[in-house]
Amino acid sequence: MKEIEKLKPLLYSTSRKIFENPETAYKEYKASKLLIETLKKEGFGVERNICGYETAFIARYGKGKVKIAFLAEYDALPEIGHGCGHNIIASASLGAGIALKRLIEKNGLDAAVYVIGCPGEEAEGAKVKFSEEGVFRDIDVVMMIHPGDRTLIKERFLAIRELRFKFYGKPSHAAASPEEGINALDGVILTYNNINALRQHLREDVRIHGIITSGGAAPNIVPDYAEAYFFVRAVDNEYLKKVLEKVKNCAMGARKATGTELKIEMGKGYKAFYPNNTLAEIFEKNIKSLGVTIDKSKEFGGLGSSDIGNVSCVVPSIHPFIRISDKELRSHSKEFAQAAISEKGNEAIMIGAKAMFLTALDIIENPELLKKIKAEFVPR
Ligand SMILES: [Zn+2]
Ligand SMILES: [Zn+2]
Repeated sequence: MKEIEKLKPLLYSTSRKIFENPETAYKEYKASKLLIETLKKEGFGVERNICGYETAFIARYGKGKVKIAFLAEYDALPEIGHGCGHNIIASASLGAGIALKRLIEKNGLDAAVYVIGCPGEEAEGAKVKFSEEGVFRDIDVVMMIHPGDRTLIKERFLAIRELRFKFYGKPSHAAASPEEGINALDGVILTYNNINALRQHLREDVRIHGIITSGGAAPNIVPDYAEAYFFVRAVDNEYLKKVLEKVKNCAMGARKATGTELKIEMGKGYKAFYPNNTLAEIFEKNIKSLGVTIDKSKEFGGLGSSDIGNVSCVVPSIHPFIRISDKELRSHSKEFAQAAISEKGNEAIMIGAKAMFLTALDIIENPELLKKIKAEFVPR
């Protein structure tokens, strides 16, 4: 633990530098450079340009049997800056990574440590491709922490998929010859209303939220093109699939009713997050040993989606939240950004780094724990 205390000035200054130079998704040039330089100086081997992402990296030290990865995020939000506190995530993972590296070196532990730079979480996160293209193939355990207004160990994230409904009709004068027209906007409106009728019969964890992105050119022209853009979410991958079919049916019914043509475009998505229970329990024991109390979860309230979901479907993972404020905080707000650079925000870096480091150490020293973590893991 002394190892991490010694890192305090480095971790605080890293957090501040990333905070003061907010860079949005996939433009995190300064942040990734800072982290890479720090890790190289420490003796990590660094690979860049992962899966074609310029601001991604994999830093690695050691060749041992147990392979542990700490994930760093460092993208900010447009205008709000670090209103999601990714400066804290990057610094905590940096701290855990360096401390573990030093211990592997000093004690000759049979382990390898990775710090993986994951850009673009706020856009189409890089971890999706990382998960699909085998970045985590050799890794046993993945950890990261996220700042929040509560300390929560096993918070879930919803699976999410984007959908675009494109309705094609036939233009006509809306007063002189309406009977000649086919109204694409009606296709969109009926889709919207069909989805609202569907809501009553879905599980409570489902979220469906959409907007109309195109709705015609002028009131006196029957709209020949209209478009709606929806996000659909659920707490598990399987149920999301079922809901997506029902949502598509809503649009297909609207097509039939209006006589329009319809194109449905399925966009990108994140998988649901399945935290590894065993890993989470070890982390919980360790964070409690630092004097931290665990808060009560909001059960489906305040749930978003994140590309850590995809990671958790290919390797045992945890993504606990650490409290950075005594007040309720809305994520992606100016208030959250202030908390992300506050004293409590700094404390969260140290707590996160220490708890992740201790958890890694438990796993390296007790092969039975890793066995249990792996036995529980289900690839999805
Ligand atoms: Zn965010
Ligand atoms: Zn975030």
